Amino acid sequence: MSIAQLFQEKSVVFSCEVFPPKKTSPIETVYRTLDQLQDLRPDYISVTFGAGGSAGDNLTGRIAAAIQDQYHIPSVAHLSCVNYTRDEVAGLLDSLKAMGIENILALRGDMDPNHPPKTDFQYASQLIAFIKSRDNSFHLSGACYPEGHIESPDMVSDILNLKKKVDAGAEHLVSQLFFDNDDFYDFREKARIAGINVPIQAGIMPVLNKSQIERMVYLCGASIPKKLARMLSRYGDHPAALRDAGIAYAIDQISDLVASGVEGIHLYTMNNAGVARAIFDRVSTLFTV
Ligand code: FAD
Repeated sequence: MSIAQLFQEKSVVFSCEVFPPKKTSPIETVYRTLDQLQDLRPDYISVTFGAGGSAGDNLTGRIAAAIQDQYHIPSVAHLSCVNYTRDEVAGLLDSLKAMGIENILALRGDMDPNHPPKTDFQYASQLIAFIKSRDNSFHLSGACYPEGHIESPDMVSDILNLKKKVDAGAEHLVSQLFFDNDDFYDFREKARIAGINVPIQAGIMPVLNKSQIERMVYLCGASIPKKLARMLSRYGDHPAALRDAGIAYAIDQISDLVASGVEGIHLYTMNNAGVARAIFDRVSTLFTV
């Protein structure tokens, strides 16, 4: 089933994201997370690509296939292109196809200062066009940025570039994490004005520790609203308190997003099924209204 189809059937689509274990950890560690996440019956689970060197053995594809085949939950395999040639991407696509993967979140990928990018793909829209021209049976999603992509000079050009991604064939968008819902609402409105009419799912990351947030702010430029800054200042050095406050903050964000008519919530679980459950238990009824 395509992910876009889920949005026609549900009032709010709820999904979770997991990442493959690092090379030093056994693959079973992610299955322990999935064992627990399956009880939440998310509408789909997506699996990131790249972290821990998942390309070589297509670990992302193997985990996404297990989510479908063993857990009977639709899955999305992330695929980034900036560090690969056309032939390498073609090989990965063939491997995903052989595993029965239908849904791909097509990404450019982050620039790694230690590895200069290859030159076949510069943007996710080129990856989307390449996949479509090669095998039209894949259903494609793309990433979007409520505060603008960190490399983008301004919001307008970022949204115009996003439109290119949708025009190339992205049927659904998943947002970068954000901590101020108004940023998401402004972005969504601008995207609709630009003629982007595919479902836009809001990405929510629960704040669990100070260093995680500092890393995210550095990597993706997410801004920290006063309410969150106060929370980090008061509870930042008290892990149990920050965990509780972070879960409460995520619940508050989700509740407001659903009340404001968001089409879907994508939870960045960081492979922490306990936190995902704590949040899900407090918001699942909202998805049925
Ligand atoms: P693009 O859509 O290509 O955009 C990148 C930049 O180029 C933007 O500034 C955009 O405005 C600009 N741009 C786009 N098209 C054009 C054009 N035609 N001309 C000029 N400028 C243009 N990374 C991973 O490595 N693995 C993952 O699994 C992963 N999962 C992610 C999941 C989500 C939901 C999100 C939001 C991000 C994820 N990322 C992942 C991070 C992502 O790879 C980075 O944010 C990356 O920097 C941009 O990827 P993109 O696909 O959005 O790029």
